[in-house]
Order: sequence, then C-alpha cells, then structure tokens
Amino acid sequence: MHNTNTLCGYIPYPASLHHLDGRDIFITKTNEGDKLIITGENPGFVGEKEDGHLVADLTHENALSLRRLFPFTAPRTGLKRGCSMGVGDRLGIATTGHLRAFSRFPNIFPVFAQQSIRELTLTGRSFDDVLDCVTFAVFREGYESGFGADGDHLKKPEEIAYALRSGYSMITLDSSEHIRGDFPDDYVPAKETQTRYLGSAFDLGDGLSLEFAAADLGRAAYIYDEAIRFIMDMHEQFIKGRDVDFEISIDETMTPTTPLEHYYVASELTRLDVRFASLAPRFCGEFQKGIDYIGDIAQFDKELMTHAAIAKKFGYKLSVHSGSDKFSVFPSVGKHTDGEFHLKTAGTNWLEAVRLIAQKAPALYRRLHEYALSHFSEATKYYHVTTNLDKIPELSAVADGDLPMLMEMNDARQLMHITYGILLTAKKEDGTFLFRDDLYTLWAEYAEDYAQLLDHHIGRHMSTLLG
Ligand SMILES: [Zn+2]
Repeated sequence: MHNTNTLCGYIPYPASLHHLDGRDIFITKTNEGDKLIITGENPGFVGEKEDGHLVADLTHENALSLRRLFPFTAPRTGLKRGCSMGVGDRLGIATTGHLRAFSRFPNIFPVFAQQSIRELTLTGRSFDDVLDCVTFAVFREGYESGFGADGDHLKKPEEIAYALRSGYSMITLDSSEHIRGDFPDDYVPAKETQTRYLGSAFDLGDGLSLEFAAADLGRAAYIYDEAIRFIMDMHEQFIKGRDVDFEISIDETMTPTTPLEHYYVASELTRLDVRFASLAPRFCGEFQKGIDYIGDIAQFDKELMTHAAIAKKFGYKLSVHSGSDKFSVFPSVGKHTDGEFHLKTAGTNWLEAVRLIAQKAPALYRRLHEYALSHFSEATKYYHVTTNLDKIPELSAVADGDLPMLMEMNDARQLMHITYGILLTAKKEDGTFLFRDDLYTLWAEYAEDYAQLLDHHIGRHMSTLLG
C-alpha cells in the first residue's frame, strides 16, 4: 500500500475521514469488521489505546459519541415540506446503497432508519441498533445532508416512549386498534358533530368539494371517533412541544378510507389542535408487500386527487405506506401531491438482498427458498398477501443462473418477502443460526454489489414518483 493512503497504518474508507479539533476520525476495514480510528486526544469513545490513536468498535456507546460530535450522524426532522421517503433497512446494511440513490435526488428527504415493533420483533433488533447502523453508515460514506429516524406503526404509549428515548425524530402512530371495523346502520353522531358537518359543502379547491350525507357522517364518526381521541391523547402526552415529525396512520384497517372519512379525521384532529406532518389513509385497491399495485388504477388516481386536496387544505402531507414497488401508481402520487408526499418502503430492500444471494450463492438461495416454502403459512399470520405458491416454479427445474429471475415473479417475491423474520432467526438444534451468519458473511463480501442493486432499485422508485 502507498503511504499516502494510510493513516496510523490504516486505510480509511475515503469518505469517512473527518476532522475534529486537530484530530482525524475515520472508519477502516479490519479482519474483525469495521473499526473507528481516532487520533490525538480521545473525545469520549470507548476503545483500545494504541500508539497515538484509539481503535474503537462500532458499539452503541460509540454511536452516541459520534452523534454528539458530528450532528449529521444524528436523525433530525424534515418531513413537513417537500418530498420524503422512508427506506426501512431490516438488516442494518442497506444505508450505503440508499444514500447513493438519495444523493442523486437531493430534494427527497431520507428517513434511513424506519422500523416497526413488528419488524424489531421478527428480526431480534432494537431501535438503538437500527439507528446505530445508520449513524455509522452516514459517517463512513460522508453523507452530511441529514436524515430522519421513524418509529413506525407504534400502537402503545410505551412504544412511543421507547422510540423517543432512542432519539427517533419521527413517530408514526398506528391507531388501528381504536378504529372500529363494524358499523350499525342507525348510528347518530352527537348534535355538535352534526352541526359542524351536515348541510354545507366543503371546498377543496381545484373544483373539488365534499358534502356529508347523514349516513356518511354517522359512519365516519362511529368508525373514527375513538381513534381520534386516542391520537389526541398520544399527541398531548408525547408530541406537543417537541421537535418531532408526527405521522398518523389509519391505513391498517379492514376497509379503504373514503375521502369523506379522511376529511372527517383531518378536520376533527385540526379542530382538536393536533399537529401532524403526514397522514396515511388506506387507499382503494391493494397495497400488498413487495409487488405492484393491485386494483383499478383510474379509480385510485381519482380518489388520490381528493385525498391530496384534503391534505393540502389542512396543511400536511399524504403518506403512502407499503410503497415498495408500486410503480404503476407512482406517477399519480407525484402528480396529485405536487411532489409533496411521504412514501415508505421496507421489504423491497430485503428482497434486493435476497436477489444478491440468488446471484452469488445459488446453493444458499435454494436452502432459503425451501425453508421459506415449508414455513410460509406461519408468516401469513403477520402479513396479508394473496400468494399462490403453485405459481412458483419447482426449484429443481430452475438452473442456478436463472434463480435471480424468481425475484421478478410476484408469488416468489412474496414467498421470500414475508418469511424474512423466520429466515433470519431460524436456528439449528445446537442453537446456532441456520442461515443468518452465512447470509451476513455474503452480504459483507458483496457489499458493493448490494449498494448498486439498492441504488438502482430505490432510484427507480424515485424517478417514477417524480417523473
Ligand atoms: Zn402502514
């Protein structure tokens, strides 16, 4: 190695070299994984002292120090205006690829850390761990434009407290447990509610307006009133007075959110002084995991126009959940929101990691695939999909070189998508992991290939959304 490339005998990742009051701080690759190297006086890292420098592991303690010393490695708010996108990384290795895509679309604010409690449980991770992986990645890649961290689909006060304690800048409140699924025909809302909503048309601009019939109002109030109270409580307790991007999710329900119901929820929350950055309705049609939109695109387009106008009127952004791979409706989303929206993807990042295994390690892919097939029904407890396993080709009939093609087939995508937790935590009889260690070894070996796959795939989301 040339001397000019080394510092204290280490080769830094070039973009990781940062300076702080005369010290050099950088990340280097070693046989035991990546390490932080700090020259000069130690500003608070925990590590091994060597000749004139410190060698520190990528631990939670050291992530905290980085966030303190280099604010760009800590999450911040940024959802309120413009376009933003959440890219959940269930593996802790995707940020390098993600930030390349975001660097090509500098007007999109990235939410690199985004995880729900369900995902944490299924992968055995913590909010701290998810955020720490992002902190080290943005430091290593020298990505200084800022990012958000989203405690996604939180349902309970203790879950919100947990995400805030870990320094998350965004809270997505899932009020689905308070949204009623049934509906009696004869429900009559309170007198004041009737006075507020009946007998007048609500102008949304652009020639759009909404008017409630008594039955519409009864239905909206019956289904959402308890959820609205819950949202108000959580806002009061955790959000008010804090610099947090607050997102309201009413998307995990049995039936789609009609524009009238959306209007009712937004109008009531505004009246009750709840401030939020974004709201996720459940759109018509199906937003299944990891595949394109299923449903009537013309109807989606028409309803989205009204949903977007409602959001604009009350001053927040529409949020599109399960946004992975919904290429056929992305142009509508970009157009009707004037490019002001939030979109969440998660599973597609895992599927690109699976694609990499299919490309580079066919034998391991075959083992994963067979295991996923035999555990598929367990996984459907957590995710709604309409996968037809019979449509997936027999693996024995697929040549090694054709395995990556499976990632172009919806049924195979969903098979591998919803079983991620089972695959990552599967254990042998002796208690060691069945796949996890082999997978991470390969992903580390082909880190550059994974970054390229994600840059391409997430970049395709961005270019389709923004036209
Ligand atoms: Zn959702």
